Amino acid sequence: MPSGIMMAAIAVSVVILLNMVIGAMSRNNMVRVTYDEFVALLAEGKVQEVEVMPDRLVITLFPEELAYEPEPTPAPANIFEVFTQQRNQGSANQPLVVYTGRMPDPELRAMLDYHGVTYSAAIITTNWLQMVFFQLMLPILFILFLFMLLRRMMSGMMGGRGGIMGIGQSNAKVYMEKKTGVTFEDVAGQEEAKESLTEIVDFLHNPEKYTDIGAIQPKGALLVGPPGTGKTLLAKAVAGEANVVFFSLSGSDFVEMFVGVGASRVRDLFKQASQHSPSIIFIDEIDAIGKSRDNQMSSNDEREQTLNQLLAEMDGFDSSKGVVILGATNRPETLDKALLRPGRFDRRINVELPDLKGRIDILHVHAKKVKMSSTADLKRIAAITPGAAGADLANMINEAALHAVRMNRKEVAQEDLMEAVEVVIAGKEKKDRIMSEKEKRIVAYHEIGHALARVIQKDGKPVEKITIIPRTKGALGYVLSAPEEEKFMHSKDEMLMEIVTALAGRAAEEVQFNTQTTGASNDIEKATRMARSMVSMYGMSEKFGMMGLESIQNRYLDGRAVLQVSDQTGAELDSEVKKILQECYQKAVDLLKQHDAKLREIAEYLFTKETITGDEFMELFERELPWPTGI
Ligand code: ADP
Ligand code: MG
Ligand code: ZN
Repeated sequence: MPSGIMMAAIAVSVVILLNMVIGAMSRNNMVRVTYDEFVALLAEGKVQEVEVMPDRLVITLFPEELAYEPEPTPAPANIFEVFTQQRNQGSANQPLVVYTGRMPDPELRAMLDYHGVTYSAAIITTNWLQMVFFQLMLPILFILFLFMLLRRMMSGMMGGRGGIMGIGQSNAKVYMEKKTGVTFEDVAGQEEAKESLTEIVDFLHNPEKYTDIGAIQPKGALLVGPPGTGKTLLAKAVAGEANVVFFSLSGSDFVEMFVGVGASRVRDLFKQASQHSPSIIFIDEIDAIGKSRDNQMSSNDEREQTLNQLLAEMDGFDSSKGVVILGATNRPETLDKALLRPGRFDRRINVELPDLKGRIDILHVHAKKVKMSSTADLKRIAAITPGAAGADLANMINEAALHAVRMNRKEVAQEDLMEAVEVVIAGKEKKDRIMSEKEKRIVAYHEIGHALARVIQKDGKPVEKITIIPRTKGALGYVLSAPEEEKFMHSKDEMLMEIVTALAGRAAEEVQFNTQTTGASNDIEKATRMARSMVSMYGMSEKFGMMGLESIQNRYLDGRAVLQVSDQTGAELDSEVKKILQECYQKAVDLLKQHDAKLREIAEYLFTKETITGDEFMELFERELPWPTGI
């Protein structure tokens, strides 16, 4: 960048210099005289010719007269000194030309006639070209130059790729990795994904095996799944397993300010990959360039060009060359259909959230990196973290290690792991937050409401922990529940039970204190979402039956549903959802009323203890049997 500034400085001085030279040239070494000097010269008969210009008179003098001026002259001495100097520098026969500013002189013509001087008006044509060049072209050229300079500086700042001359040239070099150092061992769970990818590895090793029999290998595979499930990790593992050159870019690396840069980057990438074949090209977060082109709202030339180039390159290259393209995305539904066509990313590899076994395996992989106590029970941790992605679990192990250090332990204990789970789920404990007795009591009843609803409805489904110590992610208290088995489907009854459980917190507040607090907002949101999807997506209402009313836009991110029906049907959907919620809430209230003695007993216990374990809860709950069986 200093060189850029220097170049700019040089450019500026060149322009100034040029202007000076041209200015000097255009004045043609003329000397300026005052008007009275001119009149004096005229009177002495030294003027040969006068050219009348709009702003000046250009006066040509007789050379001889001046050259041989013998006597001191009436004209001011200094002018003649200049003349003599000029004469010494220039050639002897050159006529001397001087100029003077034009005065509004009505006598001028008569005076010139009287002295027999030739005069004419100048026709100004000569300076046009010059003027256009210097006044217009030069500034434009200069600005263009500056612009290019700026661009170069910017691309320098953005990682030194490209530049004025080689836009998009050899960018891929930056991303080339000979060894990723990751193998399939480092990726736990995801067995199906690994199996599909093993085939690709095999292809890179022995392409003949496939070409001999006439099989065409897939050109590309797209890894699809929620964030943090190990897509990037898997792609690296493929490269590590295949032991080939790995070109890795993120989709957003292609999208730059200038149209055409992305496309040329794609071209370069493919060129380099085939030069280094066998190799793998990995485009992470491919949705950044692969977004559907028919989205009118946000048309983007640069992205479209890049995408088109990518499509063209994928069509163009020969899969027998040993180049495999991997892509990863968590927004597959936004991808342009052309990308998914056979011959492009024709293989889709789902990388889903891990199941119980997957979570155990992932925890083991990451536990190897820390000193883990032999008493640590990773299975238990896996059991209480349904829905956690690989990245969350990796994070938990690290949080646990940090907690162990804080506790001055030499190895990570189960306690640290449990704390880490809660930190990842609910945030850190807010120790400094002081709740009033009244608020604390309401929270205790609220949480016991949830726990009771769960245990009563499910016939003793274990509760892991109940706490009313607030956490940074917003919860004032919560019930940590441990599912005994992994579920892939939920029945209508189960969904209703979940809704009842979610609403039981508010129901407990109502039953005990006859109040309604803001603490239930999350519960309400969750219950509403469940009730709504029962009606709109799972065909679980009598009113709409199997009619699908909503579809999910991006399954792996926020999972927001989009309504696909008329306003009127939408209104009916709302009233159906409301009905379910009302019924479930009523059920929660009834349930807690039936067990209000238990509610009071356990909630007061929680109020004093602040945190109780699932075992303590069950013990209290099962005491003084029999109690009325509610449902
Ligand atoms: P994605 O690309 O799907 O968003 P990443 O591959 O970047 O997720 O995963 C982030 C981190 O989470 C990884 O570096 C790894 O530490 C951990 N991780 C995710 N999934 C797994 C897995 N299946 N096995 C082991 N570690 C995993
Ligand atoms: Mg990733
Ligand atoms: Zn609640």
